[in-house]
Amino acid sequence: MTTPLLPASLWWDGRFWPGYGFVGHPIPDISEMSPRRLPGTLLPGLVDAHVHSGLVDLGTVRAGGIAGVWDLGSAPATVSSLATAAEERKLPKIRYAGPFLTAPGGYPSDRPWAAPGSWREITSPAEGAEAVASTHALGATLIKITAHAGGPRLDPPTMAAIADAAHGLGLEVVVHAEGPGTVRAAYEAGADLLAHTPWTEPLDPGLARACAERMRWISTLDIHGWGTETPERVTAVANLRLFLEYGGSVRYGTDLGNGPLIPGVNPREIRALQAAGLSPTDVLAAMTGPDLTWIPGGLDLDPERFAGSLATARVLDDSVRPRPDVGPTPSDRRCGSPPGSPT
Ligand SMILES: [Zn+2]
Repeated sequence: MTTPLLPASLWWDGRFWPGYGFVGHPIPDISEMSPRRLPGTLLPGLVDAHVHSGLVDLGTVRAGGIAGVWDLGSAPATVSSLATAAEERKLPKIRYAGPFLTAPGGYPSDRPWAAPGSWREITSPAEGAEAVASTHALGATLIKITAHAGGPRLDPPTMAAIADAAHGLGLEVVVHAEGPGTVRAAYEAGADLLAHTPWTEPLDPGLARACAERMRWISTLDIHGWGTETPERVTAVANLRLFLEYGGSVRYGTDLGNGPLIPGVNPREIRALQAAGLSPTDVLAAMTGPDLTWIPGGLDLDPERFAGSLATARVLDDSVRPRPDVGPTPSDRRCGSPPGSPT
């Protein structure tokens, strides 16, 4: 059953529609077909493209306005059962990577937070390809490779074999690149995404440009300092700015589970993205995905107030009981050409 919704405003396809927009949204418990009015702004669902579901409470994350997450580091069996139960348990929709594929003894096998099964040691290109196939069979749509300069690393042929096998199965490859030479290794292996904006050293402009032509980066700027200026944050913001100037594409992601981050929409991450050069509309493009998000007080696109406004987001579901349409009030303004029913 779809109840037509008349939100006071709508942000869709990169545009803000003041006055009444119109959206068809499935609300299973409401049987009437009469349109329902909703104060505030409706927009597509907000997605955090880097979380660790074993280290955070995803119910809290969803209550904090996040409709979808990408899990980039959990034991695959655990996260796949969580993904299956997401709707029933009121969790965000979960897209997930398989185990970190790493060299024997490599990152993160030496880290206390890495759950057993959340990494797999790879010793040859053939073993890498086999790991991709078994990860795909578990329902993962991302393959995560680690390239950490502080420990044993996969050699280039093994990284490339993993990426080729992933692409052959329609999976995207996300690389944790940390330390000198690792971004180049990720690029040369054919990575589609970096799990973090590079933060350990300023990136060579030629490499930033090459990355911008082919890769997306997941932002994770707020893990550096959690709101205070640190050298790592300065380097990451500068690298992201360079990547964006060359036309690169960024996804909002926070690395939830890594330190004292905000479980929900993180206004500090949003402000850091703005510091790297994104406009509020660019930030929304980097954050939005499936489903619907609701800003009860209305979305504020003023650059100073935008992050705080977006942090009040709620996932729209059957717990929202909008009023029936009682006709326009004197203060209403209607769009000249409403965008119809984008869902
Ligand atoms: Zn992470």
